[in-house]
Amino acid sequence: MRYLIISDIHANLAALEAVLDDAPPFDEIWCLGDLVGYGPDPNECVERIQDFPHISLVGNHDWAAVGRLDLSSFNTDARIANAWTQSELTPAAREYLSGLPTHLEHDGFYLAHASPREPVWEYILDASLAYANFAYFSTPICLVGHTHIPIIFELDEKRQRCETLIPPFPGSLVLGPHRMIINPGSVGQPRDGDPRASYAILDTQEMTWEFRRIAYPVEITQERMRARGLPRRLIERLGMGR
Ligand code: ZN
Repeated sequence: MRYLIISDIHANLAALEAVLDDAPPFDEIWCLGDLVGYGPDPNECVERIQDFPHISLVGNHDWAAVGRLDLSSFNTDARIANAWTQSELTPAAREYLSGLPTHLEHDGFYLAHASPREPVWEYILDASLAYANFAYFSTPICLVGHTHIPIIFELDEKRQRCETLIPPFPGSLVLGPHRMIINPGSVGQPRDGDPRASYAILDTQEMTWEFRRIAYPVEITQERMRARGLPRRLIERLGMGR
């Protein structure tokens, strides 16, 4: 099976469409959470993913948008954007997001929005945090989102530590034999200094993983955000990928 791996779309339809256009043929989408929050097109993104065979996890912004998580844990801009999202969601979109799991095991892979240890909350930002998380899942590989940064943490069991692999890599990577935690980066709000949408293709027959980037019309999303009165800092950061 070939899977399109996406995460942190954050209601950015222009970025999602660019990824769908750019992706080579796939059998199913795995979405690691945060379909909404920050961006201008929450309902459209929730609807669009349902055009495909897919599985989807819930992220912290999705939970906040359906009232399952207190907005006081968000910074001011995220809070404003999420309050707007709450008021905008259709009943169908709210029902879809409310029914998503925080983590699951599928086709031999463990999936969580944030981390195996804290599926909605923890930011796996460095190798020591990644190392601690290998005890919380039993499959060879775990996929996470949440940090908006594409990265691989590879477990070195002998030395009891993690190696960090940062893309780009030429072509596809063969997975294994070591266990890994892999983050595909963010479709709708990248934070690694590259404003292009980030995603990946997982081929479970070949056992390969390919990180991919695609430019999208950032200015279209920024214009829609302006029209909806969303915070200026959130609009500007899309152009910087930070
Ligand atoms: Zn996110």
